[in-house]
Amino acid sequence: MFEKFREECGVVAIYGHPEAANLAYLGLHALQHRGQESAGIAAANGREISLHRAMGLVADIFTPEVVGRLAGYAAIGHTRYSTAGDTVLENAQPLYVNCNRGPLAIAHNGNITNALEVRRELEREGSIFHASSDTEVVLHLIAHSREASLASALREALLQLDGAFSLVLLAKDRMIVARDPHGFRPLAMGLMELSGGKMCYCFASETCAFDLIGAVYVNEVQPGEMIVIGPEGMTRQQYTVPRQPAHCVFEHVYFSRPDSIVFGRSVQLSREMMGRLLALEHPVDADVVVPVPDSGVAAALGYADESGIPFRMGLIRNHYVGRTFIEPTQAIRDFGVRLKLNPIRHLLNGKRVVLVDDSIVRGTTSRKIVRMVRGAGAREVHLRISCPPTISPCYYGVDTPRKRELIAAHNSVEAIRKFVEADSLGYLSLEGLRRAVDDDDRLTHCYACYTGVYPTELVNIDELADTKHRV
Ligand code: AMP
Repeated sequence: MFEKFREECGVVAIYGHPEAANLAYLGLHALQHRGQESAGIAAANGREISLHRAMGLVADIFTPEVVGRLAGYAAIGHTRYSTAGDTVLENAQPLYVNCNRGPLAIAHNGNITNALEVRRELEREGSIFHASSDTEVVLHLIAHSREASLASALREALLQLDGAFSLVLLAKDRMIVARDPHGFRPLAMGLMELSGGKMCYCFASETCAFDLIGAVYVNEVQPGEMIVIGPEGMTRQQYTVPRQPAHCVFEHVYFSRPDSIVFGRSVQLSREMMGRLLALEHPVDADVVVPVPDSGVAAALGYADESGIPFRMGLIRNHYVGRTFIEPTQAIRDFGVRLKLNPIRHLLNGKRVVLVDDSIVRGTTSRKIVRMVRGAGAREVHLRISCPPTISPCYYGVDTPRKRELIAAHNSVEAIRKFVEADSLGYLSLEGLRRAVDDDDRLTHCYACYTGVYPTELVNIDELADTKHRV
C-alpha cells in the first residue's frame, strides 16, 4: 500500500565540519515546526554512513550518545509530519540503502506527484519497496541508472519525476542537493568559515536553521539546480532547465517561521504586509486587534499598524500541548482549543475585536476561537484572514484535507461568516497576497490552494487525492 502524499517536512544538510551530525541536529531543532512526528540524521565519514531515526521530537530522539555515534564530516537530517496511518518508522527519513553505488541516504521535502506511476513501473521490473514514501522511488531510480557517476544517476532519476522535491542525498564521501524545476519547496544554502579558512556548506529548508548554527545565508538552491560537494570541492549545475517558478506561497502565509528568509524574502515582512493590505481591503471600526497565536501574530501586527487600532495579545497559547492528552470524561465544550488557547478577559471584555488568523481550512477551529473570544466578553468579533479562501487541496507537500472538507470550496464568504459565528469576515484578496510576497507580473509563486490552478500536470488526480487521504 502506498499511503504517502500527506506530509510536511524539513531538511538540513551539512558538509565539511567535524561535528556535522551535531550541526544537523541543531538545524533540525530550528526546523521542528515543519514536522513533529519523526526525525532522523545520517552521517558520512568517507568510508561509511551511520543513521539514526525514530518517531518523536528531535529533542527526545537525539541524546548526546546518539549524536556522538553519528560520526563524520557530512550529515543530512529530516523532520517529518504526517497524519494517522502513515506514521510508521519505515517512512521516517533519511531513508538508507546499500545498493550498487554503495551506501546512500536520502531525505526530501515535497511530494513527487507521479511517484505512484514510477513505482508501479519499477515494481513491474522487479523492484521491491520497503516503505510507502515517495522518496524511495528516487533511490530505486538511482540504482537502476546506467550512468557512471552518482550525480548523473541522480540527474537521470530526477528527470523522471514530477511535482515538488527539495532533496538531500548522502553517499559515503559526498553530498548532493537538488530542487525540482519549479522550486515548489524552499531550500537555502549557507556557509560557515572554519579555522584555517576551510568552508563548511550548509543547506536547510529555512534560514532559521543557519542562525542557530552560525552559518551565513548565501542564496537559494535554484529551481532545477543540483549542487555536488565531495573531496574535489563544490560544483553547482542546472540538471534541467528551470520552469515557471512556483514557490509555495503558503510557506509565507503560515508554514515557515517568521524569522526565516524563504525564497529569498523575509517571512515576517511578507506577513506584516499581508496584515497591512488586509486592513486596507477590510477595514473595521474596532477597539483592539488580537492575533490567533502564533499563526496570526505577524499579520495582526501589520493590521494594527496600518489601521491604527491597538495590538493586544488577547489569546495566550500553551506551547507544551502534546498530540495526545487525556480528555475529561464529562465533555467540556471546545476542549481541544481550550487546551491550546486561553483568552485574557481583561483585554477582551466589552471590546470590539479584530481577530486575525492566517487561514480557515475546515472552519471548525476558527469557530471555536471566535466563540472563545466572545465568551471572554467581546462585544463584536471581526475575523480577518491573511490569505484568500482555501478552495483546493495541495499536492505539493502541504497537508490540506480533501476538497469536500475545505469550507471555502463550497461556501460563500457570508456562509463561512455565519458558520464561524463572526460579526464580519474578510479575506485578503489574491492580488493582495501577490503584492505581500512581492510577486511581480511574472508570477513566481504557486497559488493553487486559492485558485485551483496547478502549475504542473497532475496525472491521475483522483488517485492522487485518494492516496493522499488513505489512512
Ligand atoms: P479551521 O478553523 O479548523 O479551518 O483551522 C484553522 C487553523 O488551522 C488556523 O489557525 C491555521 O493557522 C491552521 N492551519 C492552517 N493550515 C494548516 C496546516 N496545513 N497544518 C496545520 N495547521 C494549519
